[in-house]
Amino acid sequence: MKKVLIANRGEIALRIQRACHELGIKTVAIYSSADRELMHVQIADEAVCIGPPQASESYLNIPAVISAAEITGADAIHPGYGFLAENANFAEKAEKSGFIFIGPNHETIHTMGDKISAIKAMKKAGIPCIPGSDGPLSKNEQENIQLAKKIGFPIIIKAAAGGGGRGMRVVHEEAELLNAINMTRAEANSAFGDPTIYMEKFLQTPRHIEIQVLGDGKGHAIYLGERDCSIQRRHQKILEEAPALGITPKQRKSIGDKCSLACQKLKYRGAGTFEFLYENGEFYFIEMNTRIQVEHPITEETTGIDIVKWQLLLAAGEKLNIKSKDIKISGHAIECRINAEDPDNFMPSPGKINVFHAPGGPGIRVDSHIYQSYVVPPFYDSLIGKIISFGDTREIAIAKMGNALKEIVIDGIKTNIPLHQRILKDKKFLRGSVNIHHLENFCKNKSDAS
Ligand code: ADP
Repeated sequence: MKKVLIANRGEIALRIQRACHELGIKTVAIYSSADRELMHVQIADEAVCIGPPQASESYLNIPAVISAAEITGADAIHPGYGFLAENANFAEKAEKSGFIFIGPNHETIHTMGDKISAIKAMKKAGIPCIPGSDGPLSKNEQENIQLAKKIGFPIIIKAAAGGGGRGMRVVHEEAELLNAINMTRAEANSAFGDPTIYMEKFLQTPRHIEIQVLGDGKGHAIYLGERDCSIQRRHQKILEEAPALGITPKQRKSIGDKCSLACQKLKYRGAGTFEFLYENGEFYFIEMNTRIQVEHPITEETTGIDIVKWQLLLAAGEKLNIKSKDIKISGHAIECRINAEDPDNFMPSPGKINVFHAPGGPGIRVDSHIYQSYVVPPFYDSLIGKIISFGDTREIAIAKMGNALKEIVIDGIKTNIPLHQRILKDKKFLRGSVNIHHLENFCKNKSDAS
């Protein structure tokens, strides 16, 4: 692999470019006309403008991305996260056009993209799933009522094609059930073009814990421990940590072995993440992400494994010469996602960064594309960077993060840094192991108090 086209923007494009250059691989940056000034575009070996600012006409425009790879003679495409990263059609087209797609094969992406087929594949591979309908709901009302009673209220109705936290409805009692089924089915049809829905038990106070895996596509796969991503707002992760507090080495090995075994059975290629809800000591699968995750750095810090480099090596056919038992998890890492948004009402806050000063010191990593005078465009996700702290213990990682959030200066736009500062002082966060509803309650209590 000599030249990789980076089909993404922002911090992850820069992260991928760094890994490519470390390995002596040349890069092609593609960018929309709103992104000429992006950091990685400036320092890529080649850069091609692929369209106007709207993502649908640039970063999501499959023919434009493939043409850019063709005219620059790239031999592989790294999709990053978001945009086309989990688009099975794109992966297939890229491969059919003769490029290496840096990710699993398109069939795996397709299976994992439909929640019902993903759950089916996972059950078959021995992964624990949430008790549920085990398939699409029928039109038979009595059957659906019986099913819900058997599972036990509350239950959740979900769209098979859903994503981004949309297409879900919680039902607390039988009287609400049929109406909820009809509404979710209609919404699924209009939002995702697929009315298929299913039912599962609604877990009330779970944590979100996920397992990072790497597979060579030939049947060898390993796990790199877990991340706790329970600090979320509207299903969007805000702060993540590794390892997850309270998960014993025995539990880690048990769920990790199940995930790597599933990958071995699926002949999974590349990096992937098994997302679980964790409640009362049990893991329940919710979905698999077939791409690099935003929060991958905390796993890199606690395992010493460069996940993005391994994505490149595995796609190039390199042997995965590591075993799960060789992975040593040491210390504790925390990631704060820095968003260009109002910390109180979460409205996006694009615009010019007049002053930027990055934090530093031992145990601080900054993954960000921003610089002084950079203008954050209004067209894309509000993530402008990530601060990752790493220390021997959770307390030290939190203290280092506190320093970093004090040192960093981003002037000109609003960011969620004040929210992170409040979280780091929250007694329940400091105690650890909060559930996925904690942050919303925490934000609500703050607005009640003010
Ligand atoms: P998406 O693909 O839209 O992100 P997921 O299936 O990953 O959907 O679910 C998103 C979020 O919805 C989860 O992180 C969790 O907060 C909540 N959720 C989903 N299923 C359940 C469930 N069975 N019980 C409780 N919460 C759930």
